[in-house]
Amino acid sequence: MAAHGPDTSVSIVCPTCLRRTNHVILQQVKDTEYDEEGYGVGFHNSYQIVRCRGCETVSFRHASSSDIDEDPETGEPIVTEHIYPYRLAGRKRMDGYERLPVKVRAVYLETLNSLAAGGSILGTIGIRAVVEAVCKDKRTAGTSLEQRIDDLVVKGLLSPTQARFLHKSRLLGNVAVHEIEPAEDATLKIAMDIVENLLQTVYILPAALEN
Ligand SMILES: [Zn+2]
Repeated sequence: MAAHGPDTSVSIVCPTCLRRTNHVILQQVKDTEYDEEGYGVGFHNSYQIVRCRGCETVSFRHASSSDIDEDPETGEPIVTEHIYPYRLAGRKRMDGYERLPVKVRAVYLETLNSLAAGGSILGTIGIRAVVEAVCKDKRTAGTSLEQRIDDLVVKGLLSPTQARFLHKSRLLGNVAVHEIEPAEDATLKIAMDIVENLLQTVYILPAALEN
């Protein structure tokens, strides 16, 4: 197992604090499996229920490592970590997401989940899908997504600067799925900000005005 002191706490991103915090390990189960060829290589798993020391939110961490995967520089085992539910540092679900139309909301939430799970390719496709869903819902003019985004500007739902970023980032370019390259994290973050802004303008603000 990882040779870091006693297993009493671990540092992970908290879904409530939205940043890396210290978590107490409340309970854990460890197991080790050995390879079938009998070379004695062990694969280690630890399943942990953890609680943020700041806000007390409880979540789950699965850490795995093996006897053969180690950092060539430090000699420490490489630990692969999965945390549930998925969360993104610095980003929570947008305010009012519950009021989005069902289909738009589903694509939006799956996109956030993909990004939080480290799936930048699916996240990139998801961002594009949210914009497409809005364009379809608002019956924008144009044959390509680029033209339809420009029509969102004409309709006053997207600012020209936001549209320029979406075009320039090539996130929403007219490419086949197999040609999609995962965008840089910084680009995805700005694109998600723009998408949430668009969703606010199109769905949340008009609903708030009616109340
Ligand atoms: Zn917390």
